[in-house]
Amino acid sequence: MSSSASVNNAPDDNYRNYYEVFVYSFYDSDGDGTGDLKGVEEKLDYIAELGCNGIWLMPVMPSPTYHKYDVTDYMDIDAQYGSMEDFESLIRTAHDKHIRVIMDMVINHTSSKHPWFVSATDYLKGLPAEDEPDASVCPYVMYYHFGKEKKDSTWYPVAGTQYYYEGSFWSEMPDLNLANTDLVGELDAVADFWIDKGVDGFRMDAPLHYEENDKKFNTDVLKHLYEHCIGRNPDFYMVSEVWGSEKTIEEYYESETPSMFDFTFAQAEGDIIKTARGAEKAEKFVRRMIEIQKARQEIYPEYINAPFITNHDMARISNALNGKSADMKMAAALLFSMDGSPFIYYGEEIGFSSKGTKDENKRLAMYWSDADKAGICTGPEDADRDIEQKCEPADMQMKDPESLYSWYKYGLTLRNTYPEIARGKSEILEELTDSHVAALKRTYGENTIYIVYNTGKEATELILDGTEPAACKVAGYMSAGEGNCEITDGVLRLPAKTVAYLK
Ligand code: CA
Repeated sequence: MSSSASVNNAPDDNYRNYYEVFVYSFYDSDGDGTGDLKGVEEKLDYIAELGCNGIWLMPVMPSPTYHKYDVTDYMDIDAQYGSMEDFESLIRTAHDKHIRVIMDMVINHTSSKHPWFVSATDYLKGLPAEDEPDASVCPYVMYYHFGKEKKDSTWYPVAGTQYYYEGSFWSEMPDLNLANTDLVGELDAVADFWIDKGVDGFRMDAPLHYEENDKKFNTDVLKHLYEHCIGRNPDFYMVSEVWGSEKTIEEYYESETPSMFDFTFAQAEGDIIKTARGAEKAEKFVRRMIEIQKARQEIYPEYINAPFITNHDMARISNALNGKSADMKMAAALLFSMDGSPFIYYGEEIGFSSKGTKDENKRLAMYWSDADKAGICTGPEDADRDIEQKCEPADMQMKDPESLYSWYKYGLTLRNTYPEIARGKSEILEELTDSHVAALKRTYGENTIYIVYNTGKEATELILDGTEPAACKVAGYMSAGEGNCEITDGVLRLPAKTVAYLK
């Protein structure tokens, strides 16, 4: 790491450094073992100091499950997490600190305990066998997919009736019928409700499944909701979970909504982790990043990439990289060099571990401190209790300039100092690109920065004379290798495993 970059030059727009918070496991303000909104508010300074200026709150609405991805009331706060006043206070304090807050919007399905579903199934239970359901008597019967045919294994019987309903994720998560205009009207009102509370954006859960294999329908749902939201707040942001191939991600930009999560570069088999562990070279990483940026921009020029390494549904990066510190640092350096808004899953900045494939084990209590147990959550009830964290807790890492935490903080600071890293268009520098070494130019308005990568195991030297960045200086660098990154007599020395920024 180098340079004392600390100025925040970033425009107040939707290019952000986001921190994904699972409230349940983050910080417990009242000692009942469960994280809560007051806890998130207490830790806003931690998030801001790390360099994040956006938060993705995983679901906070009332729900019978610990993860809360099945809502029973779209206009309230789950009592485990606190009150609506706590939520309003969190938003106010976040805004005072220039942090935007986006929230999970789960509209593919509700909880089976949602009053809409309870009313609909009660109605069907009372319906004489010879009668057809009548939406003028019970509108909620049209809010879901009911039918007399069990179409596939994701259709479940409504007990005591001849009807089945669709629950593509789980029997207790009945799928909403987003073609119903009354329901769409209700969801528009839900959006207004949260926008009026000050929410800055939605993270759309599971749009691939609104209607299975119907891209046109699904992108229309996103487009409609986004247009509705920007009618109320022109700065409103939306990022969608389109967990599919790159082709599918690109197709969903036809919705003309700002962001799709960059699953192509994420996950254990994505480009970031593959490059960090040496299975993919810098040249391929950079060429793919630029090609993909162009392809998405052709479909939706205002697109904002949403890269990340892992989220709450995946093994943590520490597991994917066997806890190797240099590889974890390289992965973060690659992430921070990408265009768009990086998303960091809480705990990633300290190298937190998960275990196996069980979801609960990917969502453990944040490891704040060994010395001070205040605020540390119990974590999901069904998580394994024998998971040993090999990393140091956050409070120790904050004091250590060599820690992963300090690495993240430095990388995020670079992004805040040089807005073109997030916002610029990229062009490869062919003369400086070969195998483990690659270079690109990123330009945003008047600002240009050159990003040079060495993903190899050896240091290398690049002759800059005669190339575009010949007159540049090293503006900052992230190196998990040995020695300095410096320019001497027109020669750039790049240590192994390094991402350097030249201006
Ligand atoms: Ca609590």
